[in-house]
Amino acid sequence: MRLKLNGIRDKRVLAAMEKVPRHEFVSEEHLLAAYEDRPLPIGYGQTISQPYIVALMTELLELKEDDRVLEIGAGSGYQAAILAELVKHVYTVEIIEELAARAEKTLRALGYKNVKFKTGDGYFGWQEESPFNAIIVTAAPEEVPPPLKEQLAEGGRMVIPVGPPQGVQALWKFTKQGKTFAAENHGLVRFVPFTRK
Ligand code: SAH
Repeated sequence: MRLKLNGIRDKRVLAAMEKVPRHEFVSEEHLLAAYEDRPLPIGYGQTISQPYIVALMTELLELKEDDRVLEIGAGSGYQAAILAELVKHVYTVEIIEELAARAEKTLRALGYKNVKFKTGDGYFGWQEESPFNAIIVTAAPEEVPPPLKEQLAEGGRMVIPVGPPQGVQALWKFTKQGKTFAAENHGLVRFVPFTRK
């Protein structure tokens, strides 16, 4: 993977990207493409994100080992595995039950013990386990769900694509500073839509 060339600098993120076997998260028909820098279908109309985007979003989270991280949109579980390499506590919510079950199984088979799964609408975050030092959203809502803002710790970072379901979205990083959020735009991306039950 040519991640360094694309400007990913964080050594811990690069090491995690090298270590996690992406082919374990795709179906047999996509095995040969597992290490190409592009998204791949994972069933149910969903995709595993492009490795470069996974690395970029992870780097933007500025993770420290003791951070508690919430992911919305577990999908294949690949992004959760990358997070699990970097922090002690990962929480991930997935709205499609079958995907949540499969992702959990994949992560268990690979030996990850620090990822907790929940099936449900990630709009509401995971109140019982909040606050989180970092939140990553891997499906695109049209607006940032307010519960996610509330569940972010002081100084916490949220990386989220925001925009219309069909078309391109902007990748945002929000940093919580008291009652306000510092916002940084990190360019255009294309994610699957954030759906509601
Ligand atoms: N992070 C995933 C990418 C999966 S694509 C990976 O590494 O494979 C985005 C995922 O978000 C899909 O699985 C989709 O079902 C899920 N999703 C969409 N809307 C959601 C919501 N409201 N709550 C939780 N998950 C949602």
